[in-house]
Amino acid sequence: MKTEMMAAVLYGKEHLRVEPVAVPKIGGGDILVRVKAALTCGTDVKVFLRGYHARMIVPPAVLGHELAGDVVEVGEDVTRYRLGQRVVAANSAPCYACYYCRRGAENLCENLLFNNGAYAEFIRIPARIVENNTYEIPDHVGYQDAALAEPLACVLRGVEETLVRPDDTLAVIGLGPIGLMFVRLAKVYGARVIALGRRKPQLDRALRMGADEVITVTDGVDPARAVRQLTGGRGADAAVEAVGTPATWEMAVHMVRKGGKVNFFGGCPSESRITLDTSVLHYSEITCKASFHHTPAHMRRAMDVISAGNISAQDFVKGEEPLTNLLEVMRYLTSHNGHLKTAIIP
Ligand SMILES: [Zn+2]
Ligand SMILES: [Zn+2]
Repeated sequence: MKTEMMAAVLYGKEHLRVEPVAVPKIGGGDILVRVKAALTCGTDVKVFLRGYHARMIVPPAVLGHELAGDVVEVGEDVTRYRLGQRVVAANSAPCYACYYCRRGAENLCENLLFNNGAYAEFIRIPARIVENNTYEIPDHVGYQDAALAEPLACVLRGVEETLVRPDDTLAVIGLGPIGLMFVRLAKVYGARVIALGRRKPQLDRALRMGADEVITVTDGVDPARAVRQLTGGRGADAAVEAVGTPATWEMAVHMVRKGGKVNFFGGCPSESRITLDTSVLHYSEITCKASFHHTPAHMRRAMDVISAGNISAQDFVKGEEPLTNLLEVMRYLTSHNGHLKTAIIP
């Protein structure tokens, strides 16, 4: 077994170095995974720009959280996994003891244990994640497909909390990987989908994912009015905001019908504020909610969706890059919001 490996260590704001570090040592309940694919994610880009994430990562630390790989070492207490197994491990696991966990809201767990370190040759999966949030990859599913499970689990939860009936019309604002997953899953659910984006390639991708209509958001267009025009003047049954800007949060509220639901899915920069018209909320009975993270049940369901072929890397992953190119990839993504994922192959 090697004792040193290459890993991408975040030191602070836009300060990332791919360098040799010690291979993590595992405890009795842990496993060690040889990373075969680690996917880039908007959250990584945010953390890269900001230099830290209050809840998820404190530098210096190895970055990356969407991964799939092979089990290469198992702790002496691990019974469910064996050497050579292909696995996906989620980036967190709940405690199952706190107020929220007891109410089935494991995504809000007060002691959510986060795990980062996917941009490395090896990653330690801590016991709690091994026990509650690690999944074997079916033989017919590739590593890059499987690594989509984590963002997909977040979106599955979002769809579940937003759509009520299969004949709902859903407006999806923002067509990066997350928005596109919403488009695809809403179509699988049976809904009619109106996709809103700025760039032609994104709109084309939304159509390939099954969007019924697309609206090109440009400076002269009122997106809310465009959605109303496509829904008999009423507005969509639900809208999902998957951009993460105050302007699009506000826009989403004007896109739904009376009694409609808005899901603020995209996280805005901290300290952001929005302004809402109280009469619209009141007289139209708009439900506003947000979605954060996922639960183990949604991770399991995400694996089923991937296994069934409904979400695959060919639609969400644009190319492969070696770990040594991660800094360039991150820099590129900072100026290309909503770009597809890159598979980092350490
Ligand atoms: Zn992610
Ligand atoms: Zn908990």
